[in-house]
Amino acid sequence: MPDVETIRKILVIGGGPAGTFAAIAAKQHNPSAAVTLLSEEQCEPYDKPPLSKAVLLGKVLPSDALIAGPCGIAGHGVVLATRAQCTAIDRAARSVILRDGRRLPYDALVIATGSVVREIPQLPLGMPRVHYLRTEADAHVLKTALRESRDLLVVGGGLIGLEVAASAAELGVSTTVLEIAPRILARVCDEDTSAIVHAAHRQHGVDIRVGTALADAALQTDGRIAVRTGGREHLTADLAVIGTGARPNDGLAAAAGLVTNDGIIVDEYCRTCDPAIFAAGDVVRFPGPHGPVRLENWRHALDQGAVAGRNAAGATDPYMTVPSFWSEQYDLYIQGVGWAPAGGARVRRPLRGNGALVLEISDGRLVHAMGINAQRDLAAARRLIERGVAVDPAALADPAQPLAVMLKR
Ligand SMILES: Cc1cc2nc3c(=O)[nH]c(=O)nc-3n(C[C@H](O)[C@H](O)[C@H](O)COP(=O)(O)OP(=O)(O)OC[C@H]3O[C@@H](n4cnc5c(N)ncnc54)[C@H](O)[C@@H]3O)c2cc1C
Repeated sequence: MPDVETIRKILVIGGGPAGTFAAIAAKQHNPSAAVTLLSEEQCEPYDKPPLSKAVLLGKVLPSDALIAGPCGIAGHGVVLATRAQCTAIDRAARSVILRDGRRLPYDALVIATGSVVREIPQLPLGMPRVHYLRTEADAHVLKTALRESRDLLVVGGGLIGLEVAASAAELGVSTTVLEIAPRILARVCDEDTSAIVHAAHRQHGVDIRVGTALADAALQTDGRIAVRTGGREHLTADLAVIGTGARPNDGLAAAAGLVTNDGIIVDEYCRTCDPAIFAAGDVVRFPGPHGPVRLENWRHALDQGAVAGRNAAGATDPYMTVPSFWSEQYDLYIQGVGWAPAGGARVRRPLRGNGALVLEISDGRLVHAMGINAQRDLAAARRLIERGVAVDPAALADPAQPLAVMLKR
């Protein structure tokens, strides 16, 4: 572990929430250190969640959701270097090499390079009328394209694909979603929650085809995308959005000889196998309760980034998390919190209106909750999970018994 006295220069690679919070936390923990955030993008770090929702709908700009707040990262005493793409890490010399040839020395380094889109060969990156969504630049191009299109084909019924489908439907674009699994959101939630989300899309005119693989695709002479499904069905659309997931952006770390395995391997202190290098966010695989795990969600990136930054600046804080995510589609606010158990007991709690809540129990404790329009219940569930409070399944299923009251027992 670096000694706080000897840490003069801290570099952070990556301007997402993990990198931004790592840089801010490092400066807060060790104000005398020079902290620099290296971002390959051209702008102040911004949040990605609005890109598939409010940004596509034209309600906000990415610059309205700056991660470091309205004063930007400089307001926290951190130097931001934009257009600073790191091409190599020289571990022996403790320096980072940028694309323009500059070499920047470090005493401690945090890698927070996030994830990159999972490309599909039939509709690759760069093909005309094909969109992948990861950055504000991607969102800007897609937003314009949606306004010029009559119909859209989305490949992938996961969170980002469905958020884009919901935004497109709200913009009046006729939308079809192809999902290879037997149901949408199969990696994210239980069958009932996914059925509620599916029904909402149907109500808004989105045609979701589950159990449907994409076989091949081509650009027609009229400029439309034509696809053939595994069931030999032909579909055409003005544009396609690919939402087939993301993979860890761990190539820089692997090339530097750090241990990676579908993500940079870190311990509970966010340390890589090199004691001067830490990592956090989408790019890492860290010790979870059921073994090494990689998470792709905003809150994890932010919380783990802060721990990695403090530790790079000389602290020794362990990172523990109760993971959570949210998604917004139409009037549905979908949330999950906790570690889904392998075979826990499931309790459904009836809610008013279009709300839904599924609670999972293991060894007498709440371990996982999934809700739709149930923000207050999810907040209480999070605290029940964090504190490991013993719960009674009958009380959990009874909407007359507020979850918040169980916290006091
Ligand atoms: C469209 C979209 C919507 C989302 N919606 C939600 C949501 O509703 N809820 C939720 O919980 N999560 C959501 N997520 C996921 C969430 O945004 C991510 O989990 C989070 O951004 C991960 O943060 P990170 O800092 O680890 O990585 P990233 O945010 O991916 O940031 C990594 C940064 O590193 C930079 N970088 C990479 N390599 C280099 C290099 N060599 N040199 C310099 N810079 C480099 C990249 O340009 C990028 O800016 C969404 C993601 C996307 C793309």
